[in-house]
Amino acid sequence: MSKKDWKRRTTLVHGGIRRSQYNEVSEAIFLTQGFVYESAEQAAARFEKAGEDEFIYARYGNPTVRMFEERIAALEGAEDAFATASGMAAVNAALTSMLRAGDHVVSARALFGSCLYILEEVLTRYGVEVTFVDGTDLDQWRAAVRPGTKAVFLESMSNPTLEVIDLEAVARIAHDAGALVIVDNVFSTPVFSRAIALGADVVVYSATKHIDGQGRVLGGVVLGTKDYIRKTLEPYLKHTGAAMSPFTAWLLLKGLETMDLRVHAQADAALKVAQALEGDARLARVIYPGLESHPQHALAMRQLEKAGTVISLDLKGGQEAAFRFLNALEIVVISNNLGDAKSIVTHPATTTHQRLSDDQRDALGITRGLVRLSVGLEDADDLIDDLKAALDAV
Ligand SMILES: *Cc1c(COP(=O)(O)O)cnc(C)c1O
Repeated sequence: MSKKDWKRRTTLVHGGIRRSQYNEVSEAIFLTQGFVYESAEQAAARFEKAGEDEFIYARYGNPTVRMFEERIAALEGAEDAFATASGMAAVNAALTSMLRAGDHVVSARALFGSCLYILEEVLTRYGVEVTFVDGTDLDQWRAAVRPGTKAVFLESMSNPTLEVIDLEAVARIAHDAGALVIVDNVFSTPVFSRAIALGADVVVYSATKHIDGQGRVLGGVVLGTKDYIRKTLEPYLKHTGAAMSPFTAWLLLKGLETMDLRVHAQADAALKVAQALEGDARLARVIYPGLESHPQHALAMRQLEKAGTVISLDLKGGQEAAFRFLNALEIVVISNNLGDAKSIVTHPATTTHQRLSDDQRDALGITRGLVRLSVGLEDADDLIDDLKAALDAV
């Protein structure tokens, strides 16, 4: 049976393994910044062209990091991957490595705060023109993309309002204009989405989220064609230095082994929690793409195997009610990670999206009462009890 035919869970356990001369079972951590050459000639040859199993310097690549890259690439159905020190390093490199002054980018407006910063503040500083659109409105994409548009950027499911973008349709519009489709796919998760099959050229993950899934490390990864990864991204990353540490790569390899099981359990619990809270008189809205009331429910279910692990709740009493709700929770912790084994709640308007103006937040639907809940691995009934008791305390 060829590795290519392995199903997801098999790939997540065995994909990308490289064993040393000791034939260890668990992946080895190569905590080394460099590699000894047997001769000056070998060093010269390796700098000229390094083979598959030949490494030079940990900023360029490392065997443990390579195992992580190969495993996630096999999962995603991507030709190649490059790991980075954080999710933001991955987003930044995916864009910056391919753009130059005078280029045009179209981006969905509903973005993670730091992604918005890169598109709004960093790229424009270097002469890249960025047009923002409502990602769910295909007419806006059509109107904004033009010949000469180099890339479109989007979060396939937005943070924190969980809008789902029709990736296949946006990719068709972008490709007609010759633009590359770069997708930040964190909220869709590597388990539930088939971004590359739907038309994404470049997929980016913050591995800090579901890939680690246990709140231990920061990491990121960019996936794409061999040509893009090796000719565009790698030269930029290996000289600018946002390399993933081998220890992080090892933790993430262990994270990948259990990711499918974890993310399925979290999504099942998220649906149960969303259903239990929908209709509660104290909530203006329960936002979860797995609920039929979600405006893009049908699209979400077509595009994703399950609707993800994050729910947003809009409390009727605004910020005061939201804060009282957060403070009354006993199991769910207040923090800003997501995809973690521990259920986590955050108030976007005063934390992750604090930097935005009131107008920008209004445009994105980030109300003062909005709370983002990342559902973890606890028993769903315990979570429902905790959330309902906290609503009672409001
Ligand atoms: C967390 C996150 C990032 C940034 O990842 P870090 O690992 O924290 O740098 C980027 N995009 C999305 C959608 C995220 O949720």
